[in-house]
Amino acid sequence: MMKEKNDPDQSALWETHLSSKHVYDGPLLQVYVDTVQLPDETKTTRDWIRHPGASAVLPVFEDGSVMLLKQFRYPARRIFVEVPAGKLDPGESPKTTAERELFEETGLSCRHLEPVGSLFPAIGYADEEIFSFVAWGLDEQEQGLDDDEFLLKLRIPFARALQMIASGEIKDAKTISVLVQTRMWWEKNGPFPVDFSG
Ligand SMILES: [Mg+2]
Repeated sequence: MMKEKNDPDQSALWETHLSSKHVYDGPLLQVYVDTVQLPDETKTTRDWIRHPGASAVLPVFEDGSVMLLKQFRYPARRIFVEVPAGKLDPGESPKTTAERELFEETGLSCRHLEPVGSLFPAIGYADEEIFSFVAWGLDEQEQGLDDDEFLLKLRIPFARALQMIASGEIKDAKTISVLVQTRMWWEKNGPFPVDFSG
């Protein structure tokens, strides 16, 4: 973790690592209990999760529609509407992950893939960073899902997806972020017009 040396508020805010206890070593997540020193020099513990990071990608079709997915998420025991996404494999660049996950989860390959930002979905207890992309120039084939993945595709107008944030039908943090980040990027750089007004 990098100290932000140019931040004038660092001495008022920074927490210094003193020791770590590695309490769970899983295939996806590493869980730690760290002891830290607070800015006022008192000590406390922080429970936190190391995550490899992930990429999420919004595919935009020439007619202005987008492809989202419906998926059951066990921890919340709910079905969520999400952008295609997945974790970074070791040594894999975020862009390669985005392209791979897009194809595996939707069957879409893309001629264009651009970064539109990133987000931290759980800053209170995890170091996970999700890299956001937009894809267009799409070609659709069969999904190549992992054996434990069950997904339904949902192709809807971009404006409808944005409305689903307001209505609460979309609650997944990365999906909200990627839709908003892509909308802002697309208004400036999009190669073809998309109606965001609904
Ligand atoms: Mg996924």
